[in-house]
Amino acid sequence: MKSIHQGIGMTSQRTRDRLVKRIMEGGVENHRVLDVMRLMPRHIFVDEALSSRAYEDTALPIGYGQTISQPYVVARMSELLLQGGELKRVLEVGTGCGYQAAVLSQLVDQVYSVERIKALVGIAQRHLRELGIRNVRVSHTDGVWGLEERAPFDGILVAAAPEVVPESLKEQLAMGGRLVIPVGPPGRQDLLLITRTEEGFQQQVLDYVSFVPLLGGVG
Ligand code: SAH
Repeated sequence: MKSIHQGIGMTSQRTRDRLVKRIMEGGVENHRVLDVMRLMPRHIFVDEALSSRAYEDTALPIGYGQTISQPYVVARMSELLLQGGELKRVLEVGTGCGYQAAVLSQLVDQVYSVERIKALVGIAQRHLRELGIRNVRVSHTDGVWGLEERAPFDGILVAAAPEVVPESLKEQLAMGGRLVIPVGPPGRQDLLLITRTEEGFQQQVLDYVSFVPLLGGVG
């Protein structure tokens, strides 16, 4: 990645340090994750009109009825994925503007990210290019089916909530692989961590979260 300090100007490092302090207070401890959150210029990923709010710990609108995820949730989900050890190949479902993918790009070897809204694919690719990030591939496809041609994955992170866990995502996990996914109806979802083991799939219910719904088909 290019120096992610470039083009900041309007946002001071202090603002981001304050955001990272909040994320730590929320319980995220992984230093690699916290370091990336400290450096990642989130204002690049939102509309200029919202850039003064880019370092608030909230989701913000990105158009097309979608949002950029809350920084705390991005950090928490990244930490959960990484707890299994080093990750080579990771799939993200729901690229949106590309913020979570950019964070993951600094933590794993290769990120594949899929998005069903075509306009957002282009927007995310532009943001990633602007930051000189080269290890993220964004595809325009329905992520309910995972990304068969690139499977298996050491980790899968889902940034939109289905009512039930899609079987195809579980099937595309490598042995020992981890799936972090919000599941449930709009507004009250459980964040699940599903691990593929020799004995089958282990499931842990973690936090309450609120994501946009995982929709079928492409837009
Ligand atoms: N990862 C983003 C969050 C984006 S919000 C971030 O870093 O901020 C979730 C995204 O999931 C939306 O852009 C939405 O269009 C997308 N989405 C919803 N259902 C999908 C599906 N079936 N396949 C791929 N993307 C989907």
